[in-house]
Amino acid sequence: MVLITGATGNYGKSTIDFLLQKGFSSSNIVALVRNEEKASGLKEKGIAVRVGDYDNYTQLVEAFEGIDKLLLISGSDMVNRDKQHQNAVNAAKEAGVNHIIYTSFERKNETETSPITFVSATHIATENCLKSSGLDYTILRNSLYMDMLPMFFGDKVVESGIFLPAGDTKAAFALRVDMAEATANILMTEGHENKTYNFSNSENVSIPEMAGIISEVVGKEIPYHSPSQEVYVETLTKANVPSEYIGMFAGFSAAIKQGEFTVENSDLEKILGRKPITAKEFLTKVYAS
Ligand code: NAP
Repeated sequence: MVLITGATGNYGKSTIDFLLQKGFSSSNIVALVRNEEKASGLKEKGIAVRVGDYDNYTQLVEAFEGIDKLLLISGSDMVNRDKQHQNAVNAAKEAGVNHIIYTSFERKNETETSPITFVSATHIATENCLKSSGLDYTILRNSLYMDMLPMFFGDKVVESGIFLPAGDTKAAFALRVDMAEATANILMTEGHENKTYNFSNSENVSIPEMAGIISEVVGKEIPYHSPSQEVYVETLTKANVPSEYIGMFAGFSAAIKQGEFTVENSDLEKILGRKPITAKEFLTKVYAS
């Protein structure tokens, strides 16, 4: 029996859909949700729904009863995630779960000097918690979702180009849907115990190269400006962008520039059994419409 947490979120839903498409029986899937009202679609697919919040340890122990493999999808509460993930790992252990598959995050710099420590610190702590739990684990070091690029570029790309302090370093972003399909493949097959996989694209593409792709799609030169961090923050602040977004965009851009997402070896293509969707395919689809 497999349990998927975050089953009403994008990654969880998509992983469940791939499991079903690939012939995994709905009667062997349990979905963990924190809001049952959002779970009607899952129930219609014949999936058992259990309610549990990462903040509620007792609820999690009950929800994890009888589960063999558990896909732990990282939570979205940036402040309390450490404790929440610890709760999930400890509850799984108490409930007798054998194997946890965890959606972690790609990084190179694990020190506090990393510009994305606000994201990576929790993932490092959860990976350590899993490794010391005594349970079998599989760590999926997911790349930055390629899906997020249009948000980073903003909605005035065609009018004014891309303004992002990301330099011209290449990165191998992958789409969430590809990572979810690879996750389904892992859940359906054996031999992934105590392994760490890097889920990134097979090719590295820089932001100026992406500007080139968008230019071809829209039939117009899309300029790319890579300002200093200071100028970027000042410009977005003057444009009244909320500070948490500015911090996130600036941090990820600095990480791109430092090569945090430049990848030599990815496991995604191998586990998918095909090439992941490329930046060119994705950007063409987004900007052609
Ligand atoms: P999402 O659509 O926001 O889904 C997150 C899921 O986690 C939702 O189902 C949510 O429940 C559930 N959740 C959050 N807090 C919870 C709690 N306290 N107890 C139980 N469930 C809880 O995000 P996604 O796109 O599927 O991505 C999955 C995760 O990847 C995110 O949560 C985040 O940690 C991480 N992420 C990674 C990237 C990347 O670039 N690699 C980007 C964004 C996020 P509800 O449906 O009730 O809200």
